[in-house]
Amino acid sequence: MKTWQTRPQWALSSQSRPIALSESLPPDSAGPLFPADPILLIGGVHGDEPEGVVLGQAVEKWLIQEQEAGHLNPEQPWIVIPCLNPDGVALNQRVNGRGVDLNRNYPASNWSPEHSQSRYFPGPSPGSEPEIQALVQLIQERRPKLIIHFHAWKPSIVLTSDARGLEWAQPLAQASSYPIMDSIGYPTPGSLSHFGWQDLGTPIICIEEEEWIERDKPLDQIDPSQLENHYAPRLWERWRPGFQKIFAAPKNSSNSHQKGGQ
Ligand SMILES: [Zn+2]
Repeated sequence: MKTWQTRPQWALSSQSRPIALSESLPPDSAGPLFPADPILLIGGVHGDEPEGVVLGQAVEKWLIQEQEAGHLNPEQPWIVIPCLNPDGVALNQRVNGRGVDLNRNYPASNWSPEHSQSRYFPGPSPGSEPEIQALVQLIQERRPKLIIHFHAWKPSIVLTSDARGLEWAQPLAQASSYPIMDSIGYPTPGSLSHFGWQDLGTPIICIEEEEWIERDKPLDQIDPSQLENHYAPRLWERWRPGFQKIFAAPKNSSNSHQKGGQ
């Protein structure tokens, strides 16, 4: 019985590139079509941050493998969008195919048309971009209990939440030795942090991976085998123990129980 699915064309970017989504499926087919309270993970928000793209792909691969092996907590559904900004990746740029910074385009209560540099262009109006429209609809329908998105900058785990977010931020900090910060240190109107936490009350974790992948060419021109065999394992080594704590089945629940149930 299939316990997960991939939708290769869950949404389309502004330049009509497919955006994929993978998700766990409920163990009991008699239950709700989609389980409540998933954890949502989003990679590749900014196309010029290859670490954030590779991390999104690595977490997707790991979740699928562990889900198939019955190693994950069946009570904790997950949704992963490995690359939200395929236009930016193809063009090796921060913004999407229409020049919009997706992490300034959320229909947040503090969205503002003002921006200091073109790389922070928030779009013509809040939620104007197809990538953000699809994501906001997903968030409204599925109501995730936590959203984690992957970027690359100064190594840090930015937690926008009250104390309950520490339940997830602490294992990630422990595994990576990255510090937990409560702010990125500069204003980010129209960002996922503000939209998710201030407007919807959903804790948001922004992982800022250290920048270390070579930047002289777009990610899609880097040899895929090098990405898969060199970059991804090195990155995933840092983060796997943290995600293991968040998603692993509780120690007292046995595999046979999960397999035998339905
Ligand atoms: Zn970023």
